[in-house]
Amino acid sequence: TDRVFSGIKPSGDLHLGNYLGAIRRFVPLQNDFECIYCVVDMHAITVWQDPADLKRWTYEIAAAYIAAGVDPTAHIIFNQSQVAEHAELAWIFNCVARMGWMSRMTQFKDKAGKNSENVSLGLFAYPSLMAADILLYKATHVPVGDDQKQHLELSRDIAAKFNHDFAPSIAANGFEEAYFPLPEPVITGPATRVMSLRDGTKKMSKSESGSDMATIYLMDDAETIARKIKKAKSDADALPSEEKGLENRPEAANLVGIYAALSDKSVAEVLAEYGGQGFGAFKPALADLAVSVLATQADEMRRLVADPAQIETILRSGADRAREIAAKTMLEVRDIVGFIR
Ligand code: ATP
Ligand code: MG
Repeated sequence: TDRVFSGIKPSGDLHLGNYLGAIRRFVPLQNDFECIYCVVDMHAITVWQDPADLKRWTYEIAAAYIAAGVDPTAHIIFNQSQVAEHAELAWIFNCVARMGWMSRMTQFKDKAGKNSENVSLGLFAYPSLMAADILLYKATHVPVGDDQKQHLELSRDIAAKFNHDFAPSIAANGFEEAYFPLPEPVITGPATRVMSLRDGTKKMSKSESGSDMATIYLMDDAETIARKIKKAKSDADALPSEEKGLENRPEAANLVGIYAALSDKSVAEVLAEYGGQGFGAFKPALADLAVSVLATQADEMRRLVADPAQIETILRSGADRAREIAAKTMLEVRDIVGFIR
């Protein structure tokens, strides 16, 4: 069957962008795919993480997956560092990928800023590890936010180059020509790029919140969520009745997209309902909706993180099942590459 892989870094408090761009979309995929949802702790340490925070955020992400409706028995939830094969395959991919490919990654440029001499080597090689995460499981579909599109394309390039470079050995070992599938990005819905509530041109993110009012955190209480939405930057015009009226109105487009994603509607449906109304009417409706979706989930997350032993059991069981798949891939890859075992 086709397999889904996706992951989130324990690098900060989870926010609405992580939820709408990734976690919420993980849930329905369980009906059609075998799903593997990872807490990618090895990606998190590409920038400095305090060890206690890393643990806390790892529990929080596992709790968010479960609270949102991922079933850790029918599918797999685990943290990346428990399956050593991720690092092993990433090394081989470091030797397949080219420096030039990595240098073109906009996320590296953004995160390194002007100080690229002084960032970790791991931050530069990040996309190799991401390709390993996905291809270790021969995953075919990868649900992510829009910001991961370029990394996904690089994963496909790595898979294709591996298949090409090792083609004779792949054949000699009796595998299909396309040993690694080219993973498909699944970037769908009205909120694939949730923007800061204070600046409609800046992505909402864990590591760069700027102002506290810019980001809705999944653990925010009802009152905080409502306050942040009511204070969100908007404009003085009424909402348009058609989607093209949102062009050049980044803040309005962002809030309408959030409403659509939280209510499982399209942007067109939301505008059919709210077109002609101003933010004085729309923001309270959005605040009520956000609270009703997020507040119960936050309660469930709080309940789950209060029992770390239970989360550890889930992660360990997930890692055991993930490792079984990963170990088989690595046996094959070692033969293909020519490593004696
Ligand atoms: P960091 O700032 O540390 O990179 P992040 O908030 O970007 O953190 P990641 O762990 O890098 O979170 O990404 C986890 C998932 O959330 C990815 O699928 C990513 O595409 C998605 N995502 C992150 N931010 C947004 C956003 N603003 N809108 C939609 N999806 C997002
Ligand atoms: Mg990110």
